[in-house]
Amino acid sequence: MRESLYRRFNAIRKSGYVRAYAVEWFLLIAGLAIFGVFIFFTLIAEYSATTEREKSQLKTQVKIVQGTITEQLTSIRNAQVNVRNEIIDGQVHQEERGMYVRKRLQGFAESISSVWLMMVLDKQGAVIEASEPWLLGRNFGEHEYFQSAKREPDLDKFYISPPFKNEINALTIAVSTMLPDLEGRFNGVIVTILDPQTIIELLGSVLYAEDARASVAYGEGLLFLLVPERKGGLGLESSVLEPIYSKHLNTGELLTVQEARFATESEQRMIALHTVNPPELYMDMGLLVGVSRDVQVLYSYRYNDAYLNVGLYATLIIISIPGLFLSQRRRNLIRLVAAKAVQDIHEKNLELEQLNQQLQDKSEYLRSLAFVDGLTQVANRRRFDRVLSAIWTRYTRDNLPLSLLMIDLDFFKQYNDFYGHQKGDECLQVIASTLRRELPRSQDLVARYGGEEFVCLLPNTDLQEAQDIARRLSDAVAQLELAHEQSTVSNMVTISIGIATLIPTLDMDKQALLQAADKALYAAKQSGRNRFCCA
Ligand code: GH3
Ligand code: MG
Ligand code: MG
Repeated sequence: MRESLYRRFNAIRKSGYVRAYAVEWFLLIAGLAIFGVFIFFTLIAEYSATTEREKSQLKTQVKIVQGTITEQLTSIRNAQVNVRNEIIDGQVHQEERGMYVRKRLQGFAESISSVWLMMVLDKQGAVIEASEPWLLGRNFGEHEYFQSAKREPDLDKFYISPPFKNEINALTIAVSTMLPDLEGRFNGVIVTILDPQTIIELLGSVLYAEDARASVAYGEGLLFLLVPERKGGLGLESSVLEPIYSKHLNTGELLTVQEARFATESEQRMIALHTVNPPELYMDMGLLVGVSRDVQVLYSYRYNDAYLNVGLYATLIIISIPGLFLSQRRRNLIRLVAAKAVQDIHEKNLELEQLNQQLQDKSEYLRSLAFVDGLTQVANRRRFDRVLSAIWTRYTRDNLPLSLLMIDLDFFKQYNDFYGHQKGDECLQVIASTLRRELPRSQDLVARYGGEEFVCLLPNTDLQEAQDIARRLSDAVAQLELAHEQSTVSNMVTISIGIATLIPTLDMDKQALLQAADKALYAAKQSGRNRFCCA
């Protein structure tokens, strides 16, 4: 298995596809990386867009709270200063003053929505006038809204009290203005106790989401109003100064947006805080209003989006990486199969070529068999006839001499009878090869004409040359010195030769050459054998 895998790998590597595959992997991984980076930055961009949108929304809401509370405080301050002026200017008669001031206080309490009670306290803290008659005669001298003005009397100062619980056990604050005597010394306060319910309504009106919260804190961050209400309500003892408030105050900015985990809550919140301390009001202590949202909820739909994107991305990776791997493996397989097929075809082709060659050899051999005499290996009669025809046609045009020698062994019947047919065959073979050896010119043809007769076709050979050749052939046979005891012309094997030479013309037939040679041979036999005669 390992071996075959290795071989497969090598085959593929050699085939040069490794580079192409590497490029594919590079492109895939680069694509995935780019897509991943794109998703990452899209998510970051969406996240920060959400953050920015939410920040500005929180700012808008907190500004509404801050603006409304500032308006209310301004109205209250104006009302208090108004009442104070009327009292100290002595515009009103002493007797009538009580009724008049009481009416003014009632009017302010009704017209300024955040006012719950308004009253005038004397130097000892006793209620001398009030928007509600039941307050008259009571003493609030121990209250901070009286004490702070008494401690540091200042006509311009607007005293903001720390939160306290009112008659119906709700947390609220009071604001007061100093009332001076004729010499300008401390002579009591004009105090307004705020109605927490109207502020709660205001806070409720700016909440734009289920998880949003609005709050008002005093000074350094003493929380006294929170909407929606926290379970168990707010107790002054349990109120913790959240670090977020001091962080806000330390920036010196009026409006900040921060994210923080509140000590009293489990969740991380984004909070917009706004300081309420307008310089024209000259407050002795500021307020802090806040609007916040739960960060978890804030980004929850973004989280879902992110999970979806990341999920899709992961799916893409999970699908594409094994996908490319499988695809490459499949292509390898196809390539291997294709290569194998090509190799098979190549081998089959080679086989076929070999078969073809063999067939060609065989047919050539067969063709040669058809034109070669089996015993002597010189041309046979059929070949001689064809060559003669071809040369004859050509020579009728070219006007060249053509010679033919007709050769017959002398007393060969006796040779056979005496030495046996086997020896006779051997003799014929020797004679044939001798004739061929003596006629080395490529155009000359030696053929076995039949039995113990041979013909030599000598193109472009005149009679004189033909006689020379005949002589040469007779001598060569004589030199073989093949014993022939039964011959009457010699004790060796001899040949008789009939020579015919002519220049073929169109009106002649090639048979004429054969007949002439045959006649000459007959003449040679008749005249004693072992010689040649010319036609
Ligand atoms: P001549 O001198 O008049 O030619 O006498 P000859 O005996 O050669 O003449 P003839 O034609 O009467 O005899 C030819 C003999 O050649 C007959 C035969 O025995 C012999 N012969 C013919 N073909 C073959 C052959 O293929 N092999 C062998 N061994 N002998 C053959
Ligand atoms: Mg014969
Ligand atoms: Mg013979």
